[in-house]
Amino acid sequence: MDIFIEPIGKLVNEFSKLPGVGKKTAQRYAYKIIDMPESEARAFADAIIGVKRKVRYCKVCGNFTEEDECAICRTREKSVICVVKEPKDVAAIEKLREFKGVYHVLHGVIDPLSGVGPNDIRIRELLARIQGGDVKEVIIATNPDVSGDATAMYIAKLIKPLDIPVTRLAHGIPVGSEIEYTDDVTLARAFIERNRL
Ligand SMILES: [Zn+2]
Repeated sequence: MDIFIEPIGKLVNEFSKLPGVGKKTAQRYAYKIIDMPESEARAFADAIIGVKRKVRYCKVCGNFTEEDECAICRTREKSVICVVKEPKDVAAIEKLREFKGVYHVLHGVIDPLSGVGPNDIRIRELLARIQGGDVKEVIIATNPDVSGDATAMYIAKLIKPLDIPVTRLAHGIPVGSEIEYTDDVTLARAFIERNRL
């Protein structure tokens, strides 16, 4: 027998699909929703549907946007491209207000053990951008772990014949950690002290 009546059980079940949310937390969230005025609960539900309907990927960089092309691609200096694994890494770097160029979101990294090869992530699109534009530097900001490093080396090798400098954030970011969770000071320093690949 379930411990919850059906509508509550359903909501608990949905919340427990979120990362880092266990059964206990999911229950607390569900009780909070029950206590909310209906207007607040509706705003919550609308926000969820809103991101599903309105958010898509920028056709140039692959970051989240509401338009075809994101605001960063439309307005920024295009000679420096910073390559990241996921849209949340763009948010982490943007927060620093240090980087003035554009991004390229790979939507993954090369990881043979999980069956992810170079053709499964947006490397082809990156090369097309570099070949089609006046790019002066490519900064690779994948996570400093095995697959992040492998991806950085792979991309650096592809770009080498084009004679464009490829740099990599390294200094200060602990090995095995994630860009997203690196503190601002460390990440800003890693940016300034990036290494040539
Ligand atoms: Zn974009």
